[in-house]
Amino acid sequence: MGTATALDGPDALSARELYRFFRAGDEETLALRGVSLSVQRGETVAVVGPSGSGKSTLLACLAGLDEPAGGVVHVGGERLSHRPEALRAQIRARRIGILLQSGNLIAHLNVTANIRLARRAARGTGPADVGVLLDQVGIEGRARALPQELSGGELARAGLAVALANDPDVLLADEPTGELDGATERDILRLLRGRAQSGRGVLIVTHSREAVKIADRVIALHDGRIQQ
Ligand code: ADP
Ligand code: MG
Repeated sequence: MGTATALDGPDALSARELYRFFRAGDEETLALRGVSLSVQRGETVAVVGPSGSGKSTLLACLAGLDEPAGGVVHVGGERLSHRPEALRAQIRARRIGILLQSGNLIAHLNVTANIRLARRAARGTGPADVGVLLDQVGIEGRARALPQELSGGELARAGLAVALANDPDVLLADEPTGELDGATERDILRLLRGRAQSGRGVLIVTHSREAVKIADRVIALHDGRIQQ
């Protein structure tokens, strides 16, 4: 019998044999053709691959935003795939943080209201400590700012605060640093990596060398398959 640690228990995230097809008229795109992966607690995984290789489709399936045609996704040991959409949304709100290149905030709500909204979606008990979250991501002075009043770097940091609002088991990021300057990119990556080191799982879809450098493991997608 081993000593229990925070790293015991199910993987932060696991996907087995994911398939996803898109059909438009006679055209069929095989976006995912049997993708299996896992992210351990404490681990940062980078997913790389050329444009069109299935990265965003994979991320959408891992987040429960999309349903794979075949295969299964578990998050924190709980099955996410092949569930009614409302239940997927609940599980996602509680267990998954999502960070995109842009569009992470609701435009007409200030930073604090965006974080509170994310909290409510997960039925988070009590108000999130917005001050602590904003301090963590380095924009403690911007709690009342609207998205349009934020710089690109501040927007990325605010998006990360929203993604972390419910202290998720897994953080999924799709090209999170694609539009950032080098210094901000390094800072965001440091925060993502720190997140993993505190015992959560982090998966970053990326083209960035810097992001690949901080990953514990790199998965390369090509034509909807993992390249060995
Ligand atoms: P990546 O993020 O690696 O650039 P995507 O996952 O966006 O790749 O796309 C993978 C493939 O699936 C591409 O050929 C893309 O054109 C196709 N695809 C993605 N989403 C859709 C969709 N909603 N309808 C039709 N085809 C799609
Ligand atoms: Mg993409």
